[in-house]
Amino acid sequence: MKDLLGGKGANLAEMTNLGLPVPPGFTISTEACKAYLDSGDAPDGLAEEVDSHLAALERAMGKRLGDPADPLLVSVRSGAKFSMPGMMETVLNVGLNDESVTGLAAQAGGNERFAWDSYRRLIQMFGKTVCDVPGDEFEHALEGAKRAKGTTNDLDLDANDLRVLVDAYKTIFIKHTGRDFPQHPREQLDLAVNAVFESWNAERAVLYRRQERIPADLGTAVNVVAMVFGNLGADSGTGVAFTRDPASGHQGIYGDYLANAQGEDVVAGIRNTVPLQDLERLDKRSYDELLGIMARLEEHYKDLCDIEFTIERGKLWMLQTRVGKRTAAAAFVIATQLVDEGLIDLDEALHRVNGVQLAQLMFPRFGDSTDAELVTRGMNASPGAAVGRAVFDSYTAVKWSRSGEKVILVRRETNPDDLDGMIAAQGILTSRGGKTSHAAVVARGMGKTCVCGAEELNVDTKGRRLTGPHGLVVEEGDLISIDGSSGAVYRGEVPVVPSPVVDYFEGQLDPTDEQADDLVRAVHRIMSHGDRARRLAVRANADTPEDAERARRFGAQGIGLCRTEHMFLGERRQYVERLILADSDDERDEALAALLPLQREDFIGIFTAMDGLPVTVRLLDPPLHEFLPNITELSVRVAVAEARGERHENELRLLQAVHRLHEQNPMLGLRGVRLGIVVPGLFAMQVRAIIEAAAERRKAGGDPRVEIMIPLVDAVQELELVRDEAERVAREVCEREGIELPYLIGTMIELPRAALTAGQIAEAAEFFSFGTNDLTQTTWGFSRDDVEAAFFSAYLERGIFGVSPFETLDRDGVGRLVRIGTEEGRAARPDLKVGVCGEHGGDPDSVHFFHEVGLDYVSCSPFRVPVARLEAGRAAI
Ligand code: PEP
Ligand code: MG
Repeated sequence: MKDLLGGKGANLAEMTNLGLPVPPGFTISTEACKAYLDSGDAPDGLAEEVDSHLAALERAMGKRLGDPADPLLVSVRSGAKFSMPGMMETVLNVGLNDESVTGLAAQAGGNERFAWDSYRRLIQMFGKTVCDVPGDEFEHALEGAKRAKGTTNDLDLDANDLRVLVDAYKTIFIKHTGRDFPQHPREQLDLAVNAVFESWNAERAVLYRRQERIPADLGTAVNVVAMVFGNLGADSGTGVAFTRDPASGHQGIYGDYLANAQGEDVVAGIRNTVPLQDLERLDKRSYDELLGIMARLEEHYKDLCDIEFTIERGKLWMLQTRVGKRTAAAAFVIATQLVDEGLIDLDEALHRVNGVQLAQLMFPRFGDSTDAELVTRGMNASPGAAVGRAVFDSYTAVKWSRSGEKVILVRRETNPDDLDGMIAAQGILTSRGGKTSHAAVVARGMGKTCVCGAEELNVDTKGRRLTGPHGLVVEEGDLISIDGSSGAVYRGEVPVVPSPVVDYFEGQLDPTDEQADDLVRAVHRIMSHGDRARRLAVRANADTPEDAERARRFGAQGIGLCRTEHMFLGERRQYVERLILADSDDERDEALAALLPLQREDFIGIFTAMDGLPVTVRLLDPPLHEFLPNITELSVRVAVAEARGERHENELRLLQAVHRLHEQNPMLGLRGVRLGIVVPGLFAMQVRAIIEAAAERRKAGGDPRVEIMIPLVDAVQELELVRDEAERVAREVCEREGIELPYLIGTMIELPRAALTAGQIAEAAEFFSFGTNDLTQTTWGFSRDDVEAAFFSAYLERGIFGVSPFETLDRDGVGRLVRIGTEEGRAARPDLKVGVCGEHGGDPDSVHFFHEVGLDYVSCSPFRVPVARLEAGRAAI
């Protein structure tokens, strides 16, 4: 009943129903909180209900709240449906006043110190949380008392010191509230309850909810529970326990115990705890009882539980339990253990793990650092751990790595020219750009570690050095280490531990082998079950045979996006330049003819790697100027030549072309299908290369499954034009080769207009693939290359969204377009194949959405393929 009682309250009730020793108490429901927040006042009947439950509590305890001779004290704690750690309020020791403090001391065997310490804690917590008294004033008074005593340890303050401190606290209370500290126990209780209600709307709680996407209207429950004390002597104490190891998942006894202490002391780390096993020696009866309770809790919750308990004079009390947090590795191991123990089935095991955890398990990690020094933090753009020698340009990265050096490519920002260097490097570090910057997207695609936007660093490419905070200087060749999971940048070498889970996916580790550990076996079992359950197919975004092979090993069922633009880079640039500079049809055709065989070889490689599985090849997408030299560099070269009285015809023409092609807003300019329409012969050349490659594979006995995809279509007319030309070329090749070759022609849906006119577009398309990167960019009007650095951090801080819409699909806006596009496309063409190939295809939350909308497949970078498989399985159960 977490909705009504909150997590803590529901679990306390559950433990009470199980007959476990829970201190008596009652829970005020979230409904009461909502009514209070709506009207600003306690709802009718609440006071009477608190009266009757308090009376029952007093009977159960044989004490009265705040009785001067033998006071019942209560704790008043918040507890919402979803855990919001530390966001809302708690008040302990409610019921103490100037009189009952003496009664408490007497009941505690004359322990005056304990009673006065409890009282000063009440005034401090109550003042701060109920009456907004600045907490540091109490802290200062406490510090002053310790200073006067010549100590830094709270425990050195005796009863008298604490009595004096209580007086000081009361004065602070009056100063800020204009009234005395309330002496009436029931008034204390009512005010504390209201304060907990109100803490639901505390600024930090509101912010936390927005970020965690917890609905704002749930309200919190309030738990009023009899206080039990672990600080009454050597036969008392407090501790925490886990029913299994939350780090590895292994069975055993895990926990900490602190004798003669209260919960806060454990948290504050005032004294060292002992391992829970030691409790057996200290108090065997309580220890045995605790172990029995832990076993019952696991059986009841069918999961790892964490527990807080207190022993008051030899009597064990359970203060809290909940299904415990755990590491990614423990999540997999525990889920399969519970299956073996017959507590849950495999569906439930699949449900208990997720893609974020799997992704964590797939990256190499840093082991314990020896002497590396943390120098700064950037954005954790692509996870993993990488160590290498700093290099500052792509050329050096390639050269050094060929000679066997491990390198980290350090750039201010990267561009398509850096691709070779990025491939050669262990990891990429940039000082500019956000999580969708070129460096980040490309690195994630390659499964390569990347830290981007480390703004404290100054990258001096010319001087081949990196400078930074505290006089940091890293010269070319110096060792650095970057952690793409945390964004940390180290100088020096941090040891790296490879991932056994990747070895398993790569087929290098047999899960039935002796060498495979519990984790690999668990991952194997759960992945296999997910694959049986899922309805979504999973493909990969891959543009090289190597990536395609790896994706296939990782379980990809085809390629959903082969971006052909990388095939125009490097040495092939000269052909693109010739194409752009062509003055006549002949010159242009020559340039295209020179590109044809190169493209054909590329496709042969990919069709071979993906033999028997569909390969979606996308025709050229980015604007042509991206393949030309940088405008500034070229201008400088031309100017220098002119100053020397030289004239390089070609460079001059190039510069003119760069100016001609320059666009204010290239993302919305001449790219995608628009290029195919404006540059005669370009798409025809690509289609010819694809079909010829497929024909060659066919002749060699292969089974190429060709899908040709047209990018950035807005209107069906664009698609029809390109389609006619593509079909003509394909026909020609097939006739010439004397073979029949089935192929599909489809389009990306990555512009709002395309989604909104999907019914028309489907008439000319055999498949759709949602390009959710561009669709997000154009639906929100956010430039995907600029926004993260420019204003996303402000948007995240202000809670406008909890996660970047470029990472997790925005269901309400972009998702609506995906739904419309799918439904209207299928209405026009029932056998339309529909997939997605934007970054969202590998994002766990988004995969569930694509399942719900009924897509046929998701496509993502090879490294995300297992994550998408797992989430597609989870979405289907
Ligand atoms: C997209 O826009 O989602 C997409 C896959 O294409 P690209 O990222 O290459 O623009
Ligand atoms: Mg796109």
